[in-house]
Amino acid sequence: MGLIRLITFLLVGWIIWSMYRKYMAATGSKSRQDKLPDKNFVKCRYCNVHLPEPEAFSDGDSWFCCKAHQQAWLEKH
Ligand SMILES: [Zn+2]
Repeated sequence: MGLIRLITFLLVGWIIWSMYRKYMAATGSKSRQDKLPDKNFVKCRYCNVHLPEPEAFSDGDSWFCCKAHQQAWLEKH
């Protein structure tokens, strides 16, 4: 009887563990997608660095990684 009890205990433990992992993966990936929307990446026109759109500075159709690069590019053009 001891072995069957042990197997049942391990099986129940494994089911709970795999359900917990599935739950964590589902919720974890969702919150990660909210933080990193990889479709909204833009390229700095001055140094060609890729950065998320909310962190970039825009000037018309142009994107810049920082105010300094925006200024530098505008001075050149
Ligand atoms: Zn830049």
